[in-house]
Amino acid sequence: MKWKTPEETPDDIDVGEKSTKAGGIPAVLSSMSHTFKKVGPLRSLSSLMKINQTDGFDCPGCAWPEPKNRSVAEFCENGAKAIAEEATKAKITSSFFSEYSVNDLAKKSDYWLGQQGRLTHPMILKEGSSNYEMISWDQAFKEIASELKALDDPNEAIFYTSGRTSNEAAFLYQLMIRKFGTNNLPDCSNMCHESSGIAMGEAIGIGKGTVTLEDFDSADCIIIWGQNPGTNHPRMLTSLQSAARRGAKIITINPLKEVGTDRFIHPKDVHLLLGGGTKLTTQLLQIRINGDVAVTKGLMKGLLEAEEKAPGKVLDHEFIAKYTEGSHEVIEDLKKQSWDSIVESAGVSKSEILKAATIIAKSKTVIGCWAMGLTQHRNAVGNIQEVLNLLLLKGAMGKPGAGACPVRGHSNVQGDRTMGIWEAPKEPFLKKLDENFKMKAPREHGYNVVQAIEAMHAGKGKVFFAMGGNFLSATPDTEYTAKALSKTNLTVQVSTKLNRSHLVTGKRAIILPCLGRTERDLGQFVTVENSMGIVHKSIGHLSPASNFLKSEPEIVCLLAKELFPDDFVKWDDLKMNYDEVREMIGATIPGFEGYNKKVREPGGFSLPNPPRDSRTFETENGKANFFVHPLPKDEVPEGKFMMMTTRTHDQFNTTVYGLEDRYRGIKLGRRVVLMNEEDMKEKGLVQGLQVDLESEFNGKKRRVERFFVVAYDIPRKCVATYFPEANPLIPVDSYANKSMTPTSKSVIISIEKST
Ligand code: SF4
Repeated sequence: MKWKTPEETPDDIDVGEKSTKAGGIPAVLSSMSHTFKKVGPLRSLSSLMKINQTDGFDCPGCAWPEPKNRSVAEFCENGAKAIAEEATKAKITSSFFSEYSVNDLAKKSDYWLGQQGRLTHPMILKEGSSNYEMISWDQAFKEIASELKALDDPNEAIFYTSGRTSNEAAFLYQLMIRKFGTNNLPDCSNMCHESSGIAMGEAIGIGKGTVTLEDFDSADCIIIWGQNPGTNHPRMLTSLQSAARRGAKIITINPLKEVGTDRFIHPKDVHLLLGGGTKLTTQLLQIRINGDVAVTKGLMKGLLEAEEKAPGKVLDHEFIAKYTEGSHEVIEDLKKQSWDSIVESAGVSKSEILKAATIIAKSKTVIGCWAMGLTQHRNAVGNIQEVLNLLLLKGAMGKPGAGACPVRGHSNVQGDRTMGIWEAPKEPFLKKLDENFKMKAPREHGYNVVQAIEAMHAGKGKVFFAMGGNFLSATPDTEYTAKALSKTNLTVQVSTKLNRSHLVTGKRAIILPCLGRTERDLGQFVTVENSMGIVHKSIGHLSPASNFLKSEPEIVCLLAKELFPDDFVKWDDLKMNYDEVREMIGATIPGFEGYNKKVREPGGFSLPNPPRDSRTFETENGKANFFVHPLPKDEVPEGKFMMMTTRTHDQFNTTVYGLEDRYRGIKLGRRVVLMNEEDMKEKGLVQGLQVDLESEFNGKKRRVERFFVVAYDIPRKCVATYFPEANPLIPVDSYANKSMTPTSKSVIISIEKST
């Protein structure tokens, strides 16, 4: 089934006032309208009282942690929307698939598909058929197992994981896949924080953040690179608000001026709801797209100049001498860098940079936060290592109020990686699997997301299995990826709701509907790991949307049983006994010893984090390493623009909750391009006009049509669009060095009036 732009995409747009404050009454009203409308008042209230509580379920949204002392309402507007999406009363029954063929559904917008409700029964799309039809679970597992067993090589199978998968399901899934004989475990992390993992691994010996939530209570300065927490990690605003209120300085570095980091009203401050909110950001450095290496070098150059004026007062020489290596090369590089080259590459003035550097110079404790704005560029690893250079110069590692804070997008994306969901596993982990499960785990590294797309496109990937997610919409180069998927023999999606990946399939396709986070799972709980390395319980409380749903762990166990009937691993027992699964994890993965006991403690437990816990850096040289990176050379040709994709305030990854990007004042349509007014004038474009966007990379052109121009506060020659609508423009072969994360934040495009 060829991918083409859904015809029923709203072909209109309504641009109004931008919000001047994040949170507040509008957030409360939006939370209630989404939940009450889709879930009903009583189920909503009971779910909102359970979300992120120690005896409740973990929010299926982002991975921002919970405070030790949780409040009764421990959720944000987008957490409420995530519940509304999953606990919706709307259901998709088999008659739905009789009424709508795959072709019919492909014409519908992503929003419309998501609003049809929960999948309730296993479905199969037979070869040559136009409609999905019901299939029994047993038959479904037989079909999948026989297709897998028929492969000439286990590496012809690809097993994708979305970051919502629980630790228990993820561990069983990787075990089954490695027993099957492949490391083809691409996951959503490949498209988001893979660059962080690689950069941090080389620099400080761990691919995870080194701060706790409590560190935000004692940081003098918090720097936020390429992140929009107001929409993507909204409860982070609570920490930023209390930091700002106690006088901490917040520096935001972003091409877009986002209200979420500017001003915030906490919905719980009832007495302040009508007020002006708390000013969060002390200083915004509105850089050009991909100006991060330059601005960060500029900040460090400013620190050096401040250090010269006040020796020993700015840089942490004792930390640098004792724990690091490579500072000399970085300092020499900074001295050589001219301010002109820095200013030109950063897109902000020397005085602005020095003003921010002065704030950092006076700060004893600094936290550096970042998200996709750093990780989705060709020089992403360089972006992050420059951030780490700055933190190391300040000794901001392994002390209260200081450290690195890559903020994870998906609720358990970090946990999945910890459980072994990785195409490039380390030898000690594989050795442990061999010992514990009487197997010979494959050593050859597998495909990450980009390699998986290429392999399917080349006909080398014959079976594609997705544990959650929406692979087609999340990945770059949508038409190319669709072609790749359509070349497989079988695509299998373990899902809660309908999405576009169910409509672009292999010769055959199977949908396996699973339980959601909010739903009871026969009294069992699962566990997840948040962005700060805390592992905690999640137990559903709602009755399942259908009696035909199965949990992710059960789905894996039943498929494994079909694949390995007489296996050493007692899959049949494990599907109903997650404590047993946790014992297996405890015996395999360091830090999980005594897992079942530790995770039953209120709030769970923290995993070891050597840089944070003891300023220990498990790098090759046992030191925290500085790295020198060149200023990126991304020339934007005359008349063209550098495009970054972004989310609206009404979406989570590829899930579209609604059609209102409230903070930016944009409603209805999602095919929009945010442009600088000077650039619009120069191109003879006005707001509301429809334009076609085209990228060209390695000689190949990619195009999307009829996007609405919206005037926005963004630097010259920079534009922003929403994903997944703009993903067709992102070349599959344009990715970050080392991490191969698609460059969704920097793609050069042309913009022409639609004809
Ligand atoms: S901040 Fe993230 S984890 Fe917390 S409620 Fe909001 S979406 Fe959920």
